[in-house]
Amino acid sequence: MTKEIVIVGAGFAGVSAARTLAKKLKKDKEVNITLIDKNSFHTYMTELHEVAGGRVEANAIKYDLQRIFKKYPKVQLVTDKVLRIDYDKKEVIAEHQTLKFDYLLLAMGGEANDFGTPGVKEHAFTLWSIEAAERLHDHILDACQRAAIEHDPAKRRALLTFTVIGAGFTGIEMIGELIDWVPILAKEYKLDKDEFSLKVVEAMPTILNMVTEKEQTKALRYLKKKGVELILGDGVSSVEEGTLNLASGKAIPTYTAVWTAGVKANTDTADFEIEQARAGRLVANEFMEAKGKENVYVAGDLVYYEENGQPTPQIVQAAEQTGHTAAHNIIAAITGGKKEAFKGKYDGFMVSIGSKYGVAFLNNKFHLSGFLAMAVKHLINLVYFLSISSFYNIGAYLRHEFFDIKHKRNIFGGMTSSKGNNLWMVPLRVYFGSMWLFEGLKKAFGWFGTTSWLGNDIVFPFEWLKDPVSGASEAATEEVAHQIFALNYTYGEEPMQVLKEMPDWFEAIMKIMMPNQDVALFMQKMMTFLEIAIGLALIAGLFVWLISALTIMLVAMFSLSGMFYWVNMWFVPVAIALMNGAGRAFGLDYWVMPWIGNKLDRWIYGKPKHIYSKK
Ligand SMILES: Cc1cc2nc3c(=O)[nH]c(=O)nc-3n(C[C@H](O)[C@H](O)[C@H](O)COP(=O)(O)OP(=O)(O)OC[C@H]3O[C@@H](n4cnc5c(N)ncnc54)[C@H](O)[C@@H]3O)c2cc1C
Repeated sequence: MTKEIVIVGAGFAGVSAARTLAKKLKKDKEVNITLIDKNSFHTYMTELHEVAGGRVEANAIKYDLQRIFKKYPKVQLVTDKVLRIDYDKKEVIAEHQTLKFDYLLLAMGGEANDFGTPGVKEHAFTLWSIEAAERLHDHILDACQRAAIEHDPAKRRALLTFTVIGAGFTGIEMIGELIDWVPILAKEYKLDKDEFSLKVVEAMPTILNMVTEKEQTKALRYLKKKGVELILGDGVSSVEEGTLNLASGKAIPTYTAVWTAGVKANTDTADFEIEQARAGRLVANEFMEAKGKENVYVAGDLVYYEENGQPTPQIVQAAEQTGHTAAHNIIAAITGGKKEAFKGKYDGFMVSIGSKYGVAFLNNKFHLSGFLAMAVKHLINLVYFLSISSFYNIGAYLRHEFFDIKHKRNIFGGMTSSKGNNLWMVPLRVYFGSMWLFEGLKKAFGWFGTTSWLGNDIVFPFEWLKDPVSGASEAATEEVAHQIFALNYTYGEEPMQVLKEMPDWFEAIMKIMMPNQDVALFMQKMMTFLEIAIGLALIAGLFVWLISALTIMLVAMFSLSGMFYWVNMWFVPVAIALMNGAGRAFGLDYWVMPWIGNKLDRWIYGKPKHIYSKK
């Protein structure tokens, strides 16, 4: 008879279990696997703070389940919210359907635990689901909107005070996002940056207790440097509309209190009739079998299983590993194989503090911080998608975190943003710059047997510059005909010059600009240096718009002077393409142009304010 396996929850534990089952039971026609989740996507929980803090859109961390399980058609997906379990009839009862099961795995995760603190439910925000993250994000925007039209400075400051309660990884990652977001919000809503304040309240005297003192100290230093006020060793007694009350009696005026101080089991499972332990987690044995229930398993944040006197940590690796153990033991139960006891193996912790800084303690030996810690965090996320064979999601992750990123919010300061195609212009810009540099150096040093433009021979092939007696510059004139803005096209067919002769009107202008040999000598030297400078500026990405425009002008001048080949006319479309901000990706314009823009803007218009009033 066909056996029905039902997994509830497509989080890290559920996905890990479903994949293990689908792989191992691929050929078993007598087994059906169903994965049911209230959402049609897997929420990448570890990045919730990025959504709440406006770094990425909510869609960026919703990974479509059909894509994840494309390779595993054995896993049937169901989108529905599970309400209860009927163990006698062996049924999972959801809002819109009932599923029969022979083996059941509960992997429904956790939720924020407010320990019954008064006012948290009504007035604080949490961060343990995509809905909660979106709610917090929208609220922060709303608070800024309200602050922008608020005339009372005290109320405005309270609206702009964002307080995170709890200094575990969720809390610190959230405040990190706010550090990055505040300057952007201040600009968008024309608010004074100094009126914003960021606070962390923690009952313990330390932060980030899962890493070593070394990381804690670095994280503390970074937070303080960024102006975060840390209130340590003080708990929250209650939350009211507009006020956070602390155990010490202190009151913080704030409309944004984010509660990250605890996790408990998903309360949807409260009536599942399985013994509960601390924080409502469902008790299971070492095989992840639910206590007192046959063929029912629990995994992830939801399970309570003690290893070395400690419950399994509520982290991704524990979720995946408990999910794997449960799956293995379901297979053992079906096939009569040997059961496997859970053995946790954790590689450490990585905590991001905003998009550019992080701390990590890995494998109980490696201490990382800053860029490296963040780079490793991105790498681990990519490895996760690789581990679930989701190449589509590798692409999606890179797109969301690097190529589509706004406001420079990644470790590369947004230079990887492909908006405006700046990133893909970098090789073209460097190549174009190298061409100019090469041409300038060739002229300077007289490479390939040409006359140096820095010497005392005139190289311009213009009649009026020839010495009437000696005919000097004749030789140079001959040579120039072959190496004018040439990049050496002397092999193969003789390339065609744009104009063989200078038009009369242009000659008249040139005669004014270059009336005699002395001026011509000066001009040819200046041209050489100019070409070198153009090359270097393009390679460095400095003033690329201006320089590109200059190159178009020079091409026009060279062409009219009878010194430019048609084959090099690609200079013009390339210069036009580079004018689209090509210096802003891996180029100095990335810093220089906004700096100039800001200075000019302030100089011309003054500082924008959120409320204008008569002086
Ligand atoms: C902001 C934040 C940052 C974090 N950072 C890290 C980190 O850096 N490293 C780390 O290791 N861990 C981190 N964690 C913890 C980690 O995300 C969790 O330990 C992990 O998600 C637990 O996996 P899970 O499968 O048990 O539950 P979840 O991932 O929560 O999945 C539970 C699933 O069950 C579904 N579900 C719930 N109720 C129902 C229902 N009634 N019916 C149907 N489906 C339901 C949900 O939709 C969800 O898909 C972080 C958590 C947060 C919130």
